[in-house]
Amino acid sequence: MTKRAPAPPHVAIVGGGLAGMSAAETLSRVHPELRLTLLESKRLPGGRAGSYVDPQTGGEVDYCQHAAMGCCTNLIDLLQACGLEQHLRRDRSLTFLHPDHPPSRFAPSRWLPPPLHLLRTLHAQRYLSARQKREIRSGLWKLMRTPVDTLRNCRAHQWLSDARQSEDTVRDFWDVILVSALGEHTRRVSMAAARKVLIDGFAASRGASDVLVPIVPLADLFGRQLASELTRRGVEIQSGQTVRQITSEARVITSTQTLDADAVICAVPWHRIAELFDQWPDGRRDALPDLPAISAIPSSPITGLHLWFDSPITPMDHAVMVGTVAQWLFRAPFGSQEKHHYYQVVISGSHPAITGTKQTLIDTVLAELRHAFPAARDATLLRHRRVTDPNSVFSLRPEVDAIRPAATTNVPWLSLAGDWTQTDWPATMEGAVISGRLAAAAAVNHLQRDTDSSSLAPDRFLTPGLAPGRLAGLLIRSDQRDGDAWT
Ligand SMILES: Cc1cc2nc3c(=O)[nH]c(=O)nc-3n(C[C@H](O)[C@H](O)[C@H](O)COP(=O)(O)OP(=O)(O)OC[C@H]3O[C@@H](n4cnc5c(N)ncnc54)[C@H](O)[C@@H]3O)c2cc1C
Repeated sequence: MTKRAPAPPHVAIVGGGLAGMSAAETLSRVHPELRLTLLESKRLPGGRAGSYVDPQTGGEVDYCQHAAMGCCTNLIDLLQACGLEQHLRRDRSLTFLHPDHPPSRFAPSRWLPPPLHLLRTLHAQRYLSARQKREIRSGLWKLMRTPVDTLRNCRAHQWLSDARQSEDTVRDFWDVILVSALGEHTRRVSMAAARKVLIDGFAASRGASDVLVPIVPLADLFGRQLASELTRRGVEIQSGQTVRQITSEARVITSTQTLDADAVICAVPWHRIAELFDQWPDGRRDALPDLPAISAIPSSPITGLHLWFDSPITPMDHAVMVGTVAQWLFRAPFGSQEKHHYYQVVISGSHPAITGTKQTLIDTVLAELRHAFPAARDATLLRHRRVTDPNSVFSLRPEVDAIRPAATTNVPWLSLAGDWTQTDWPATMEGAVISGRLAAAAAVNHLQRDTDSSSLAPDRFLTPGLAPGRLAGLLIRSDQRDGDAWT
């Protein structure tokens, strides 16, 4: 009788957002022999990076416009690995609009080395006074010379005030960049997170601040095209399957089935994780990460205000709006614009005190658009829809950063993924993709423990960040030991 080959190890991935899909993509590429099951509670995977069907046109509209940056190397790599990179448009310049000033173009120099490539374009921002520009240059210099580890316990607002950034400079520059990148205000976010945005996202490397805009609906890009590539590679995607429990024996229970797994990657959002483990016996529960603390991580809302006009209000693809409630305007990057001219205004950190009621918000934003774009004065708003997810992103405060768990847990078969886990990134698509790759490495380490005593470095599956330019490498202090001569 021939001996049957042992069944391949089974990895169950709970949660089909970008983190779960990234874990599945990594495992299916690196270990195609594994049996992989991805369980997602919604109809389509993709999680927060998704779309709804507009009942009027039948077309898909993203819940909220998503944009990535040139420094998002893992997201870009994931899309390349799946043949989907052509669905991101790369824009190398931004337009800043302030109600009291002419438009300002932000386009880093193609010739000057980073971080000097930012100097002229910073100077060209017409809504900033000469004093504000001086403060910003000195604040950015100080930030480059401050290692990230010294900023972890510090709120951005405090650091900026210590760095002599006046209130109007914080409002007109730092908040404009940081609120849209971190989804939260400088009064709350950690300065380490702010440094990540300003240094890695702007100062260190050429191309880091390029804006990458999906040109197909997110539901199509991630929910269908990425999902179908995973299916082609053998990942079993079960949509519409809400997991009720992950038991202490590595069983994954939904309302219709129980799956036995050799490793489980839990990739649900921070506010959904505790309920999956609440049946664990007392003695075993201690091995889990601090789930009550994780569930209590505060969230920050982002609002997408969807607007359909009867005529175009601007030919610009996007604009950053300063000094207004509206923060970004995006023109439809896809879909027919024949009858309806679709735009979306994005407001991050959209706490009710800022946005007010739905009607006040629409009135305010319409007035702001009519002021900024003369063509909007002749355009009729046909309809609108406000979409606010109160749990859009976790609020990256210093105390939150301290409790973000690693992918590896004290339960050998269990690893965690999700933008909220410890990735060194804020709540972004890039952070989610990195977290999935780290969780995949943790699962592989667990599965290989019997055959290989050495364990993979957790970042083995990561794409390196953009290399800093030579001058930036000299000027930017990466840790506390290097470059004291400059201080
Ligand atoms: C309004 C808004 C705007 C944003 N803008 C940007 C942007 O411009 N750029 C950017 O980079 N990022 C942006 N983000 C953040 C980005 O969307 C997230 O960081 C990223 O998508 C998180 O992915 P994730 O997989 O960690 O989590 P999620 O996307 O939340 O995925 C978790 C998945 O788990 C599923 N799930 C939950 N519980 C269960 C269960 N019990 N059983 C099975 N499945 C379950 C959920 O349905 C979901 O699909 C934005 C987010 C929002 C909400």
